[in-house]
Amino acid sequence: MSITENVIRIREEIRKAAIAAGRDPASIRLCAATKMNGTPAIREAIAAGVTCCGENRVQELTQKLSENAYEGADIHFIGHLQTNKVKQVVGKVSLIHSIDSLHLLEAVNKEALRQGIQQDILLEINIGDEESKSGFTPEELFTILDTATHFPGIFIRGLMAIPPICQNPGDNDKFFQKMYQLSVDITAKKYDNVCSTVLSMGMSADYREAIACGSTMVRIGTDIFGARNYAAKQPQG
Ligand SMILES: *Cc1c(COP(=O)(O)O)cnc(C)c1O
Repeated sequence: MSITENVIRIREEIRKAAIAAGRDPASIRLCAATKMNGTPAIREAIAAGVTCCGENRVQELTQKLSENAYEGADIHFIGHLQTNKVKQVVGKVSLIHSIDSLHLLEAVNKEALRQGIQQDILLEINIGDEESKSGFTPEELFTILDTATHFPGIFIRGLMAIPPICQNPGDNDKFFQKMYQLSVDITAKKYDNVCSTVLSMGMSADYREAIACGSTMVRIGTDIFGARNYAAKQPQG
């Protein structure tokens, strides 16, 4: 199947999952996870209706920006971000999904203030409490939010999670439900620079379940672009 056909099929799947959950399909956004895919593939996805691209690595982001790869779509950063690279991301993307430490939050705030902008971000939650994953624990979240209200360079748009790799459909439902509850709890608290409407969760293997549990943004790579070739050195595309 071509990228175009995949995008059309996934958008239909998103619509069906939304309706099945009694939700408005327009409340769920498809973010194409473009890592290791080159400019031609990204352009095809955008032409097929993708309105948002999520990039993982700073180097790829910079390269593809220079090629105008994302024209017609919003650009998000969804990968682990090192503090020494925030300059290359802040102000260049409309949303950073992956703020996973106070240190990084401070660095993004500082760079945004230097540029005279306010950067939209999501806080990443290590919802499966996995050793291998970064992110705040649900317990840390409210402490971070209290601190973040003093950071005028950032605006917290919501939460993001990458739950454990799921073996069977439904395995991650408990994590998705926990994320949804956290997002409801934050909204109830009414912080100044927090408007927690984005819930970024669900990937190729589990986006339908994530939508059933309240996701507003699914990040999909493989189902759009095909399996990634990790052996190749250059982005495929
Ligand atoms: C690669 C990636 C995705 C997409 O994963 P697929 O399983 O290929 O759909 C989503 N989110 C993040 C943060 C990723 O790095």
